[in-house]
Formats: sequence, structure tokens, C-alpha cells
Amino acid sequence: MSSGIYIHVPFCHRRCTYCDFYLTTNTKLTDIFIKSLVKEFELVSKSLENKDIDSVFLGGGTPSILNKQQLSAVFSALKNYFNLSGESEITIECNPEDISKDTEKLEYFRNCGINRISIGTQSFINNELYFLTREHTEEDSVKAVRNAKNIFDNVSVDLIYSIPAQTEKSLMYNLDKIIELDIPHVSAYTLIFEEGTLLHKAYSKKKINKNTDAKESELYFLVNNYLASKGYMHYEVSNYAKPGFESKHNLKYWEFKDYIGFGPSAHSFCNKKRWNNVKSVTKYSEMLEKNLLPVEFSEIPDAVKMENDYFISVMRSKGVCFEDYSRLFGKNFEEVFENAVAANIKNGYAKIENGRFGLTDKGFALADTILLDFVN
Ligand code: SF4
Repeated sequence: MSSGIYIHVPFCHRRCTYCDFYLTTNTKLTDIFIKSLVKEFELVSKSLENKDIDSVFLGGGTPSILNKQQLSAVFSALKNYFNLSGESEITIECNPEDISKDTEKLEYFRNCGINRISIGTQSFINNELYFLTREHTEEDSVKAVRNAKNIFDNVSVDLIYSIPAQTEKSLMYNLDKIIELDIPHVSAYTLIFEEGTLLHKAYSKKKINKNTDAKESELYFLVNNYLASKGYMHYEVSNYAKPGFESKHNLKYWEFKDYIGFGPSAHSFCNKKRWNNVKSVTKYSEMLEKNLLPVEFSEIPDAVKMENDYFISVMRSKGVCFEDYSRLFGKNFEEVFENAVAANIKNGYAKIENGRFGLTDKGFALADTILLDFVN
């Protein structure tokens, strides 16, 4: 079976107030990072019996910060150390301002073999972008999508909603822009006030308010219902796709398949083992310089943890596949969870379809609570 590769490119020009990803604004470190990444490919590939790969995702951070030479070094090393299938989905995350002015970057992305563009638009409204401290404007969001669509079929946008003071009207404006621009994949997340972020500090000091749960729920169902009415499938709690445009790479996370993460702070799950890398470009590079894998933590989860991890992965997307569950854990899901299955179906939170037990839209809204019926 083929694995997915995730590459964490931990650089941004500045940190958005809501962001808690590991990253640095010291872009002078990009060359060292690329050299170390190539070394990490080499060391990890040596440890793997199966080097077959069918999805690559460059995320961050801002991978679109990388220049032509850096990207071509990444792709030639990937092809050198792994068996990259010709059918691979290869995605790069881009900030709108990097691809709105000209199409040169997009063209060399395509020349490297990239075939899917995920754009961090977040909103098509200047006030909202200002609140989110993004560097781009509404005009950049629109131009970035148009430029990407001129070169790629497979384009995704990120949308952040439930921004304080957001109205149904402003959310509808964003959704209508997505429809007007004919974007086949949407990742729509509610604004999270993560601890440690500037956004959370402002909230703690009562400088800004959060929306109530009731308002957030209204906005969530507005997104679901509107995108469904326009032909999008709701295939993960926060992800929507036109038929044929589901993210092959992200489905690896949500279907409990193997993926290998590269770069500082990247996580991996492969051959029933989990590990994550150190969260520092400098430490990452120093370890690789000494031929050491830059791993901060690793474990082989015990049977109970593995089963919990399975539910956490699959319940937010296509649900429990009865055949997979019985192969992985040697048990019959419908027998073990007979009561929880019946109760969730009765409440309209879940359904059984095509050999799977999966959540409905109503269930997705309560996914974290419903999970408690299945995890230990
Ligand atoms: S551009 Fe993305 S990764 Fe960079 S700081 Fe903003 S939210 Fe975080």
C-alpha cells in the first residue's frame, strides 16, 4: 500500500494572530532547511521497506515562499529517494499574495509536478482579512484563485468563519464568491482561539468577544446547507468537495492510512508507529547534520490507544468501515458498539451506508461529543 508524504515548510513573513503552528519568520534559514530536508528524505527512505508514495502535501507555514531552486531540490530528492507514483496527488499550500500578481510561480509549481493548489484565502472581505491580520486583500484572494484556475483543475481554498461580529450576510458573500469562482474544494474552519496566540490574549483581556455556540452552530449549518445545495459533498467535518475533488492526501489522515511527515514539528504514522519531529529549524538541521533523525517523540501505541486513534481519525470523515475495523482490531464493530450505534442513528447523528457507520451533518456538529461513545 502506498503512503502519503507531508512536508512542513515552517516559514512565514509574519505570524497571523490566530496561528499556533510551528514556524519562524527568519526566512534566511530556508536554504539550510532545504538541505536538511533532503537529508531527512535520505535517512527515512533507508529505514523503509516500502517506499511507494501516492500523495505529497507541502504545507506550513508558507511553502509558496520557497524559490524555484529550492522547490526543484525538494522534488528531485523526493523522486530520488521514494517511488513516487505517476498518479500522485501533489499539493502545495499558497498564500494569495504569492500568486495573485503573476503566474510565474504557478507555472514552475506545475513544472515540478504539483497538480493541486490549496490557497489560504480565508475570506473575500477586506475587514475580515484585516481582523485576521492577513497580508492579502480581497482582490488578492480573487486574483489568486483566477490565476490558479487558469493553470490547475484541482484548486482548494481555505475559509475561516465565525469571526467575531461576522453576519450571515458576510458569510454568504464569501460562499457566493466561492461559487462564482467555481472552486472545486473548500476547507471551512471556524475561528479557533488557541491558547498562546495573540488572538487568545486579546480575548482573555476582553478586547474581543467570541461568538456564542448557538451563533457558531447557525453559521456552520449555513455553510453545510449552502455548499450542499451547490453540489459539494461534505466529506469531513470541515471539508467539502465537488465529485472527484476530495483530497486524496488528507483522506490518508481521516482513513487511518500511513503518512510520513518531514520538516520541523511534522507528525508521522507509519507501520503502526507514531512519531513527531522537533519543533525548531535549528535543532532539526543540527540533528540531520549529525545523521540523526530529528525525532522528538515516538511510540508504538498499544491496542487500546490504536483503536482510540482509529475512531478519532475516521469519525470526523467517512466513518468506520466495518471491513477495515474487523481487519485492524479482530472484532465486529456493530456487535461491540450495538447500543451506541443504535442511539446515534435514532438521534439522527449517524447512519449506516455502504458498509460504514458515519456521522450525518447534524452528527458532524457534535463529533467531539459523539466520539466519547467509542473511545476508551
Ligand atoms: S500564513 Fe498561515 S501558517 Fe503563516 S502565520 Fe498565517 S495562518 Fe500561520
